[in-house]
Amino acid sequence: MDSSKRKFLALSGITIASSLTTSLSASEHTDTVKGKAETKNTKAPIPDTKQPRVVILGGGWSGLSVAKTVTAFAPKADVILVEKRHEFISCPVSNLWLVDQVELDYITHDYLQAARNYNYTFFNATAIGIDKKKRILKTSEGDIAFDYLVLSPGIDYDYSKWTTDTALVTRLKQEYPAAFIPGSEHMTLKSKIHNFKGGNFILTVPGGNYRCLPAPYERACLIADYFKQKKLKAKVILLDENNAITIKKKGFSSAFEELYADYIEYVPNAAITGFDLDKKIVSTEMEDYEFEDAAFYPRVRGAKILETMGLAKDAKDMMEGHINSLTYEVIGEKDIFIAGDARPMGFSKSGNTSNTEGKYVGSIVAKRINKEEAPAWEPPITMCFSAVATKPAKAIYIFTQYSFDKKDKDPKHVKFEDWKKFSFSNTMSSENWKKDGDVDADSILSWSAALYFDMFGAK
Ligand SMILES: Cc1cc2nc3c(=O)[nH]c(=O)nc-3n(C[C@H](O)[C@H](O)[C@H](O)COP(=O)(O)OP(=O)(O)OC[C@H]3O[C@@H](n4cnc5c(N)ncnc54)[C@H](O)[C@@H]3O)c2cc1C
Repeated sequence: MDSSKRKFLALSGITIASSLTTSLSASEHTDTVKGKAETKNTKAPIPDTKQPRVVILGGGWSGLSVAKTVTAFAPKADVILVEKRHEFISCPVSNLWLVDQVELDYITHDYLQAARNYNYTFFNATAIGIDKKKRILKTSEGDIAFDYLVLSPGIDYDYSKWTTDTALVTRLKQEYPAAFIPGSEHMTLKSKIHNFKGGNFILTVPGGNYRCLPAPYERACLIADYFKQKKLKAKVILLDENNAITIKKKGFSSAFEELYADYIEYVPNAAITGFDLDKKIVSTEMEDYEFEDAAFYPRVRGAKILETMGLAKDAKDMMEGHINSLTYEVIGEKDIFIAGDARPMGFSKSGNTSNTEGKYVGSIVAKRINKEEAPAWEPPITMCFSAVATKPAKAIYIFTQYSFDKKDKDPKHVKFEDWKKFSFSNTMSSENWKKDGDVDADSILSWSAALYFDMFGAK
């Protein structure tokens, strides 16, 4: 290494993980045993390395893609994926699982398989904080030193626009979960749908840039389709905080009108103003709605761990990552990145977006490790299929990229505020489900199978 590079590394505090072993043991906490203060080494049980260490937080559509890309382009890197779940359950295609069109097996995947196939370490733990100075990610299983850190923790719900009453929030989460974060919430929703005897089933569409714009409309179609086939006297009432269907409007509104006229009541401009869960009534400014059952999807925000780490920006009321919108690097930090649904740019919060973006962010990290020039900015790709019926299967889709409007495209000169300057480009959609719906329905499975293979590799 030449002396100028050495100087730069020293100044910027970048060292490789192995040389942090000593500072790791300095990362200690105090524990009191029988009244006596004692220090405990909290180093995570991961072998030390002499290689540059890349720690990725979050094994979702973003983190998996970043991990795979870094190991592909910087094979010498020691890549560690930190994830709190034991297995991956896909949100995409989960609406079809709710109504028995795919097995749970199809949307469930094996983190260890991904780690073996792509040569990184899967570390099952919950991240709880960061020591930015010492370059340590703190987890429930101990501290992990990093040279590069990519945070892809996804979203959390924000119930505060509806209520700040914690008792009510707890009931909403437990009795009427949104099912937009995978796991138990989806299981509860499936059981609600399958045990529904009739009456009103309420779903909501939040305002703001919520996770997966089309998914609430797709879910309304599929639940209505299920009720229709069971010949239930039932109605899905879709209360939309927005003034119109937010995406694939032609396709969804024609499905609502032509397939589910008796089964879906779509209500735009229907921000919720109150709940009476005992009486099972939800209120909007215009009207009160009685319901037999429901899944209430509130607004979303960046995952809370970013705020805990002091890396979130309170913009648009969403506490998303405080990053340079072209390089994904945290403002004021070196080699710490935030990607996926936790990004602040107005891209669609979708799996395909996070996956394609993860390849770009992974290549930024790999090129830094390889001491190569930074890659040119690449727009993520949003490609999203939505089922509207099951027998026969019909679907619609949208494809879009994004363009950056600023004249000066040099990432060094782009400020956080410039996230506003992105707009859609090369957008196309297929919304005539009567004509192309069966081909698009097949594509849901081929698209998802290809993406699962991309993230997990061969069994
Ligand atoms: C019903 C539904 C349908 C959808 N349909 C589609 C679709 O058809 N097409 C499409 O492209 N997208 C779809 N999406 C959107 C897609 O699921 C998300 O955009 C995508 O999951 C975002 O990826 P991510 O990696 O940012 O977040 P996630 O996939 O949520 O991953 C974040 C990961 O971080 C982990 N994590 C968080 N905090 C911690 C912590 N402190 N410690 C350790 N681990 C942590 C979480 O456990 C999680 O595994 C859909 C979503 C839903 C809910």
